[in-house]
Amino acid sequence: MIIAMRSDAAEDQIEHVCDRIREFGYTPHVIRGEERVVIGAIGRGDNKDHLQTLRSAPGVAEVIRILQPYKLVSRELKPQKSIIRAGDLEIGGDEFVVMAGPCSVETRDQLMETAHAVKRAGARVLRGGAYKPRTSPYDFQGLEEEGLKLLAEARQQTGLKIVTEVVTAEDVDLVAEYADILQVGARNMQNFALLKRLGNARRPVLLKRGMSSTVKELLLSAEYIASHGNDQIILCERGIRTFETATRNTLDLAAVPLLREMSHLPIVVDPSHGTGRRSLVCPASKAALVIGADGLILEVHPRPEEAWSDGPQSLTLSGFDEIMGELRRYAHLEARRIA
Ligand code: PEP
Ligand code: MN
Repeated sequence: MIIAMRSDAAEDQIEHVCDRIREFGYTPHVIRGEERVVIGAIGRGDNKDHLQTLRSAPGVAEVIRILQPYKLVSRELKPQKSIIRAGDLEIGGDEFVVMAGPCSVETRDQLMETAHAVKRAGARVLRGGAYKPRTSPYDFQGLEEEGLKLLAEARQQTGLKIVTEVVTAEDVDLVAEYADILQVGARNMQNFALLKRLGNARRPVLLKRGMSSTVKELLLSAEYIASHGNDQIILCERGIRTFETATRNTLDLAAVPLLREMSHLPIVVDPSHGTGRRSLVCPASKAALVIGADGLILEVHPRPEEAWSDGPQSLTLSGFDEIMGELRRYAHLEARRIA
């Protein structure tokens, strides 16, 4: 249920409604919009009819049932787009934000060379996996904390924000010490213990769509994080598995405007994993911008043929620079700022 307050509702009236929601066994989530405050009553309380009685509470304009199973992340609850902040960086605002870097953090030289190059070309966030969820147990699993330290060093040298993957609930605190944004990988989109734990992380979460997940399942995973206390979530379309094998995944670009209709959360696209082929990353990146994404996450490596993971889809440093040039032309048409 949503309790929409009148635009002139006083703070004590808002507090009173929250108290009643708690009495009925629900959790109140207060959302302060530009015009009015709306309060979501979330959870399995005693009786939905009790919430209807709030219609007559002072300061209340309307009590509305949320029809979708995802509530806190839905547009029904919050019609305006959300802006997610990582320090001074805004994701979901006017700026089209590009995150770029290697699939895996490999060595100091590899990471610093990439970080400086993507910064120069206009990236705002450095990506790089320190914990790698690999399909084969014999593949490189990541440098772990050593990799996190290198990412922090790269942030210090370049001023870029850091996004990196957290694979287990136990690692959330450690990764959050080093990262500005915590990435949940496709293989972990329905790791509910991890999602719940991220609910009390004090960092934004980049939530990737599972490779066999529907848009509704993605939003329900976001709802797990939000309902456990963290509404700083960025959705990521990274391609899904279909009958097509010519590309590594099938990049579902229509999911971007669809998610936009369903949710207020920002949406970024990952054309690297979405296509699996370097030559397709540029056209898919342009399409993502034009179809309305808030940003991109791209894999870049100084020598892709030597990459320890995902070389075939990694851009070279000059390839990344070229893509940024192309994106600037389209950003202008879409009235988006780009660095
Ligand atoms: C990655 O970003 O390197 C990664 C493992 O992505 P995904 O979880 O989308 O496969
Ligand atoms: Mn990768």
